[in-house]
Amino acid sequence: MSDAIFKRLVIIGIGLIGSSIARGAKEYGGIAGELVICDANPVALARARELGLGDVYEADAAKAVVGADGVILCAPVGAYAALAKAIAPFLAKGVVLSDVGSTKQSVLRDVVPFLPEGVAFVPAHPLAGTEFSGPDAGMADLFEGRWCLLTPPAGTDAEAVRRVEAMWQILGAQTAKMDAAHHDRVIAIVSHLPHLIAFTICGTADDLADETRQEVLQFAASGFRDFTRIAASDPVMWRDIFLNNKDALLEMFARFSEDAQAMARAVRKGDTGYIEDKINRSRKIRKSLIDLKQA
Ligand code: NAP
Repeated sequence: MSDAIFKRLVIIGIGLIGSSIARGAKEYGGIAGELVICDANPVALARARELGLGDVYEADAAKAVVGADGVILCAPVGAYAALAKAIAPFLAKGVVLSDVGSTKQSVLRDVVPFLPEGVAFVPAHPLAGTEFSGPDAGMADLFEGRWCLLTPPAGTDAEAVRRVEAMWQILGAQTAKMDAAHHDRVIAIVSHLPHLIAFTICGTADDLADETRQEVLQFAASGFRDFTRIAASDPVMWRDIFLNNKDALLEMFARFSEDAQAMARAVRKGDTGYIEDKINRSRKIRKSLIDLKQA
């Protein structure tokens, strides 16, 4: 397609997010004239080929980016530094490089030092996902109605930013620009801390005596079930996110711990006003999410 945003677009990492972009590009059109799928995992790459997610399939990222005018990193953020180093010598002048990583300061730290002159880097983070991984997990409409946050460093080519925004808008997302440090603090509280709590509460339940654990599984109420869904997420991806947003995550965890202690004290003292006030504030947040169609 000659009027596509990118003539040759390379997706590196064909998991949940990469394969959702690939599916959306095929379904909606206007994003890529030719779609190159790259993944270091031979099973994922073979499956992407079987599913017909792209036009060209390549295991080696350095080879995949040759001749491309658009590249999107969709691997776990811990792989970015090595990936950037490997592809940098093969990125042509004028290429738009983007990504979907869940942490943004680490991405700038790990990618920018390797970039050759003339390559525009437009980091992005779609706020959409599920607990599933791999090429089969993707959906063309995963980003429909969701936000995609762009964190281009100061001085990034405006046309490159416009092309990345246009791609996300075709995929159904709303875009907003944000400073990388601010992004990391916001996402620490709305996504990274809830995952840390979910992994922890499942671990706590699992540490209980055998008989009790059986009952936990058998009679799991909706609250615990919701935590187990979040906790089913990919361990490598979440290990990388925690380690690459360490400062913001630990700050939000410290605030959360103080508030959780205060709630526990209110329960111990029978402070009904405090307990009801907290629950009412939480209900308001839930209602606002529903009103904003983000629930
Ligand atoms: P995923 O389903 O696990 O897929 C990632 C794919 O990248 C896997 O096939 C993986 O292979 C491959 N890979 C790993 N290292 C690579 C390398 N060096 N070169 C090429 N391919 C490589 O992950 P995902 O959920 O799509 O997440 C991808 C990115 O999106 C992450 O940076 C994450 O932070 C971000 N993100 C995720 C979500 C979410 O809800 N899942 C939401 C927003 C953003 P292996 O399986 O062998 O490692």
